[in-house]
Amino acid sequence: MGCDGGSIPKRDELVKQKQRKAKVDQNILNRVHWFSCALSKKPLSSPVVSCGLGKLYNRDAILEFLLDRKAYGDGDLICKHIKSLKDVVTLQLEHNPSFSEAQSASLTNHDQEPVSRFICPITMKEMNGKHRFVYLDTCGCVMSEQAMKEVPSKTCIKCTKPYEAINVIVLNPKAEELEAMELTLVEKQARIAAERKC
Ligand SMILES: [Zn+2]
Repeated sequence: MGCDGGSIPKRDELVKQKQRKAKVDQNILNRVHWFSCALSKKPLSSPVVSCGLGKLYNRDAILEFLLDRKAYGDGDLICKHIKSLKDVVTLQLEHNPSFSEAQSASLTNHDQEPVSRFICPITMKEMNGKHRFVYLDTCGCVMSEQAMKEVPSKTCIKCTKPYEAINVIVLNPKAEELEAMELTLVEKQARIAAERKC
């Protein structure tokens, strides 16, 4: 015999390897998008703001960027659309009671799943990239998309301020949603500019 060396991986083994790699890649992306500021890349910490494209930033990084647009090398690539503080909304985030600063250190440990500082105030789901989250640009309240769908309302479920569909911004949208959000943003900015002129 001697030819059963087993060094050639079987197909299902290869599929498993591929799935593992895809999971690792997704975990890395989640850490980048849901745990760190899109601009400074530092861990997200309150006050956190978001723009019309649903990116998450630390407010102090945006302030620094507005004072010096070259403060972060790739700032103009990431948030060219932010011209003033009026282009961002301070998010009203629900703090996760199970989060501790010690867990925040686990961000650097790539084997461990990080614990998010923030949760949905309705479903209590963690804002860790596994569930879709939205915010309202009228009040800044953040919740899971599931909560918003399950409790349909014309007022914010958290603070009761009225809103319309156009005020719902998806956080960290999928690549295919981004184009539509960019168009909406351009239209919104044009409308605000026109209103200012009146
Ligand atoms: Zn609200």
